[in-house]
Amino acid sequence: MSGDDCRQVLGQLQTFLDGECAGDLEVLVQAHLHDCAPCLDRADFERHLRDLVASRCRASAPEGLLERVLARLASVRA
Ligand SMILES: [Zn+2]
Repeated sequence: MSGDDCRQVLGQLQTFLDGECAGDLEVLVQAHLHDCAPCLDRADFERHLRDLVASRCRASAPEGLLERVLARLASVRA
């Protein structure tokens, strides 16, 4: 799996998770996630982050949890 594929997929990840990819692109991203564990991990992490943010709107998250997640996200993107 080439690094270029990963960069392209990760660049589209937000759009993919929003369900706003064009059909061809969605198939491409899904196929890549199926074959590429690091990108799948990243996609899972983004999904968990979204769940966390969504649940925080209904009930407050444990103290410091969001900050820890955001810090991890920053380090992943660095
Ligand atoms: Zn990948």
